[in-house]
Amino acid sequence: MIDPVTSFVYDFSQGSKDQKDLLGGKGANLAEMTNLGLPVPPGFTITTEACRAYLEEGAEPAGLADEVTARLSALEETMGRRLGDPADPLLLSVRSGAKFSMPGMMETVLNIGLNDESVHGLARANSNERFAMDSYRRLLQMFGSTVLGIDSEVFAEALDELKEKRGTTADLDLDVEDLRGLVETFKGLIQSHVGRPFPQDPREQLDLAVRAVFDSWNTDRARLYRRQERIPEDLGTAVNVQVMVFGNRGMTSGSGVAFTRDPASGHRGVYGDYLQNAQGEDVVAGIRNTVTLADLGEIDKPAHDELLQIMDTLEKHYRDMCDIEFTIEDRKLWMLQTRVGKRTAAAAFRIAYMMADEGLIDLDEAVRRVHGAQLGQLMFPSFDESAARELLAKGMNASPGAAVGKAVFSSATAVEWAEKGEDVILIRKETNPDDLHGMVAARGILTSRGGKTSHAAVVARGMGRTCVCGAEAIDVDAKNRRFTTADGAEIAEGDLISIDGTTGHVYAGSVPVVPSSIVRWFEGELDATSDELVTAVAALMEHADKARRMLVRANADTPDDASRARRFGAQGIGLCRTEHMFLGERRELVEHLIVAENQSEQEKALDELLPLQRKDFAEIFKAMNGMPVTIRLIDPPLHEFLPDLTELSVDVALEEEHGEHDERHHQLLTAVRRLHEQNPMLGLRGVRLGIAIPGLFTMQARAILMAAADHLQANGDPRPEIMVPLVASVKELEIIKAKLEQVAREVEQERGITIPHKIGTMIEIPRAVVTADKIAKVAEFFSFGTNDLTQLTWGFSRDDVEAEFFSTYFEQGVFQVSPFESLDTEGVGSLVRTAVELGRKARPDLHLGVCGEHGGDPHSIHFFDQVGLDYVSCSPFRVPVARLEAGRAALGAE
Ligand code: ADP
Ligand code: MG
Ligand code: MG
Repeated sequence: MIDPVTSFVYDFSQGSKDQKDLLGGKGANLAEMTNLGLPVPPGFTITTEACRAYLEEGAEPAGLADEVTARLSALEETMGRRLGDPADPLLLSVRSGAKFSMPGMMETVLNIGLNDESVHGLARANSNERFAMDSYRRLLQMFGSTVLGIDSEVFAEALDELKEKRGTTADLDLDVEDLRGLVETFKGLIQSHVGRPFPQDPREQLDLAVRAVFDSWNTDRARLYRRQERIPEDLGTAVNVQVMVFGNRGMTSGSGVAFTRDPASGHRGVYGDYLQNAQGEDVVAGIRNTVTLADLGEIDKPAHDELLQIMDTLEKHYRDMCDIEFTIEDRKLWMLQTRVGKRTAAAAFRIAYMMADEGLIDLDEAVRRVHGAQLGQLMFPSFDESAARELLAKGMNASPGAAVGKAVFSSATAVEWAEKGEDVILIRKETNPDDLHGMVAARGILTSRGGKTSHAAVVARGMGRTCVCGAEAIDVDAKNRRFTTADGAEIAEGDLISIDGTTGHVYAGSVPVVPSSIVRWFEGELDATSDELVTAVAALMEHADKARRMLVRANADTPDDASRARRFGAQGIGLCRTEHMFLGERRELVEHLIVAENQSEQEKALDELLPLQRKDFAEIFKAMNGMPVTIRLIDPPLHEFLPDLTELSVDVALEEEHGEHDERHHQLLTAVRRLHEQNPMLGLRGVRLGIAIPGLFTMQARAILMAAADHLQANGDPRPEIMVPLVASVKELEIIKAKLEQVAREVEQERGITIPHKIGTMIEIPRAVVTADKIAKVAEFFSFGTNDLTQLTWGFSRDDVEAEFFSTYFEQGVFQVSPFESLDTEGVGSLVRTAVELGRKARPDLHLGVCGEHGGDPHSIHFFDQVGLDYVSCSPFRVPVARLEAGRAALGAE
């Protein structure tokens, strides 16, 4: 017996489903089924460790060949046959299987062990020559393409040619002589393409196939897939070597795939496809029409019943929906694969809920099994499934949503048409930073090249724009403003198309869109019992809410957003920005404030702004009655409220030329020049503005407190929290806080009531983090502004870098996901942790939250739960996702 610690090879009876790291997913589950006593053809697994050693050293690790020999002998003994024995050969399959299922790697080679001699042994032993020849030609075909690297088309063409000659399209119509000829043809093709004959030695076939699986870990396709799915590069793959069973031995044999529940809808009841007289790969290849499992019940009742029995066993054992592959060899059922099956977002919720209902799992586990990303998907509007549609192409589902619009082929056209009020879909081969304005203007973006980390995909996700990328079947002709598809369809500029960013499908024309039933339920338009999906989501949300430790608030600036957030389950407002309250018609008042020449002019401008602000806040307090509302005092640099420097200079110059003189324009120009900054992001903004123009912050505070007083006196329950942005030093906060408290005293005296309120700060500058203990003595709460904190920690400005070079950074592996999308827990996260610790030391009851976009990102939410924040705050639409993920985090889900 080989020492299992150093062993590179494990018999199926030695492993279990929990050993996916070592045995790969397929190997671990084959072992699990074997140990459950299910009918699994025997075999062994060569570990991922052996693969890693091979990839590192460029050669099979010492000892591997001997271990394979020993395992093979044991297998031959069990089966009473030898690999490739000319009289009665044992045949094997060689199957790749990494920890995560990975299309793009080598496929399986079946029938290893056949050669010019043993093919006759197989024919004699089974009294079936056609079957033997069919198996041999399959081996030549699979070995030739996957192990020897010959284009599979070469074999497919030869097969098609033969069928054409016989006047048929069905493999089954080929007779022994045809297949014998095909074997010779295939051998000739191998010889001519690789310059040597097909290896006749069975062991050499096995070794070459194993090595090919190892090598396939590093093919371009596999690397690309790993990058897209964020699978680590260094896992390696396992190889499964298994005794063959034959679904192609005649009409009493066959192969199939099945799911223990419907993977699309999640409905109970088995679901599957079966094909008589076929080997496994024929089922998915779609070369013949498959029949249903119910039909199998007619064809072979005992095998069918045993299969259903086994599926039931598997589902109970895995306590989840399983996906399986099986083969029937002359009425005997064999299990070839199982795994926890992939499913749609809707099916994930239904299955988890129903399994909890059936008592297979508890509600905690059900909540752990559904993801915020899936809930997010269910909240997008989608194309009406019952509507007719013409599929043009399939690409990558880069950014979810359903978008309909007129096809445009340049960003300039996108902008121009969008300005006229048209919905457009921007179609490019690939996008680059110059396309940004076009992407902003478009409803959706479609590219024919690039993957999920291409420029188009990254930018579209960042903007929440629907995007399908890498739709290779379309040929974009930007010059002639059209694209054609492989099937000959043509879409010209102005033609309507529909793109589905959730599935990657591209349709001709305008496919009708339906709103999400989940959103309608949140909005109160649907009852929780109205459909099964809503029932499932409602139950799991309720349980997540019960389980979670963190509160969820929303970022909302308007009463409408605040009310929606509340309907979506927000427990307060974590960030109410005030800058938009200075735009539109009020811009002029801000201009007055900025060009004011003395204090009384300044005060006059502020006095005009005050009642408007007071009204803004009053409405928000009403919408959020009884819940905390964190209001951030004005944050952006003032120039954002002023006209553009160049435009204004041109205006003034033109006026001068015409001998006109507009005093206001002149004053404005002076102010704009004065306020012009090289790096506005690092300039006069936030608390600095509050200190430089004190009246601005105090006016805002007065408006907030007066609105609160109004609401109080109307028997309301306002809970204002005044938040000072961009603090770096406790001194800044002290100066501002003293002024704000002064205002509070004044308003309280005027109104004769106490107004509950808190004063706190954003933590978004590294200096604030490292002095958080001092700041916490003055601040009553911290809210992490993780967007600015990320910018200032990395030292880059989001607008400048994201579209510019992030795709290169992804390719080179600097980071796998944008630190603006998902918190960089190692760097920025460690600052958050430090500030939490320092802050709580100084003020144990310090209230802590986060108000950046990260507050709605699942991975970041789990981190915030870990470091002990009291709440996360995110956009109203993300609130349900945050509730679910906060619940999952508390329940220990990954
Ligand atoms: P994939 O990961 O692509 O599903 P598999 O290793 O499962 O690849 O194999 C592909 C096909 O080959 C499957 O349909 C499977 O049923 C069939 N197959 C694999 N091993 C055997 C075997 N020992 N006997 C018969 N068919 C097999
Ligand atoms: Mg399979
Ligand atoms: Mg900020």
